[in-house]
Amino acid sequence: MAILPIYNCFHPVLKQKTNEIYNIDGNLKELIDNMYDTLRNIDTGVGLAGNQVGENKSVIVMDLSIADDVEEDRSITMINPVIEFFSEEKAEESEGCLSVPEYFEKVIRPAEIEVRYLDIDGKENIEQAGGFFARLIQHEVDHLNGILFIDRISPLKRALSKSKFKKIQGGKVPVDYPMILPDGTLQQ
Ligand code: ZN
Repeated sequence: MAILPIYNCFHPVLKQKTNEIYNIDGNLKELIDNMYDTLRNIDTGVGLAGNQVGENKSVIVMDLSIADDVEEDRSITMINPVIEFFSEEKAEESEGCLSVPEYFEKVIRPAEIEVRYLDIDGKENIEQAGGFFARLIQHEVDHLNGILFIDRISPLKRALSKSKFKKIQGGKVPVDYPMILPDGTLQQ
């Protein structure tokens, strides 16, 4: 059990597509446990992708206990998730990311999706999702493909946020969790 540092959005590991997982072994299970510890240590955390903790692996963990539109408390791990259906209908909501501290912006995404993934026992699951859960899965699967939510905002909004992004990149935005900066050093 361990709290892992979160990688800053400007670190190259977050720009790389992660590798598919072929063995669900003890090492992977330990990583997943540590990802949950890391996520639950952060009040605002709802989801975490492997490369956000510097591991180039196609795995995401989600904890829906703070989501408004999800009835039950629910933790869900997805290994090698692939989104196989996107609805025509779109929704626009504000998003944030543990790798992009103190930055929130609206993102337009398909409102409903269908995702195929392996669970921790290696069993294949297909799940339909809407609302917050659909958005969260899309945000996390984007991470596994090297895409950040700030890549999905308009060029104008990006341009207007340039100075804020510079601060994030330079480790000048305070975080209450350990963060690895783009140069590999720990933000103090
Ligand atoms: Zn994120």
